[in-house]
Amino acid sequence: MLTVNEIFHSIQGESTHAGRPCVFVRLTACDLRCSWCDTPYAFYEGRKMSVDDVIAGVEQYGCDVVEITGGEPLLQKEVYPLMQRLLDAGRTVMIETGGHLSADAVPEGVIRVIDVKCPGSGEAGRMHWPNLDRLRPTDEVKFVLRDRADYDYARDVVARRVHARRRQAAQGPGDAPLTSEDGRRAGHDRRSGYERRSRRVPRRAARDRDGAARGPGTATRP
Ligand code: SF4
Repeated sequence: MLTVNEIFHSIQGESTHAGRPCVFVRLTACDLRCSWCDTPYAFYEGRKMSVDDVIAGVEQYGCDVVEITGGEPLLQKEVYPLMQRLLDAGRTVMIETGGHLSADAVPEGVIRVIDVKCPGSGEAGRMHWPNLDRLRPTDEVKFVLRDRADYDYARDVVARRVHARRRQAAQGPGDAPLTSEDGRRAGHDRRSGYERRSRRVPRRAARDRDGAARGPGTATRP
């Protein structure tokens, strides 16, 4: 059984899939306490549902894109068969995780959106860095920035753990060390849109348990 906080249909407000209609499955519970968390109601509130029930809840919207979020969705082991069932049904499946748990067992084909918690979150020390060492081509990395210090931290993480690893993968082990030209290329990657920036998603004005329309971008905050 899964403990589910809510299932609803809205517009994806984050990631490179922003703007697409999407069904969100928000799972209950989180073992982090980010200072800016806007979904504390997902820490404890939820109802027990079988994977079949969740699939039925998703299917009622007739939407091909599904995001599993939380809370922290990887805390519940039945999230794995849920992801596989959604994939097998031909859906685009995304999972948004707080980045502190291993995402290795997420099925291939699922788009993993991995949060990196910056110092302003108060949870930076919990990051599971191997998640960034083993990024897949469809993965996306997300930073919520509170201030300039968070921005500098995020830039450093991207330069050292994302760009550098991609260059290593392209060069192979034992090749020449990184040069200033590598740094210039990394800068070019940023300017050419390799990284996508978006404004902080506004806090949902009020929870809507009656099914009325939700504004875009209000759905994801692991
Ligand atoms: S923002 Fe996400 S990861 Fe952080 S406490 Fe809230 S639900 Fe947990």
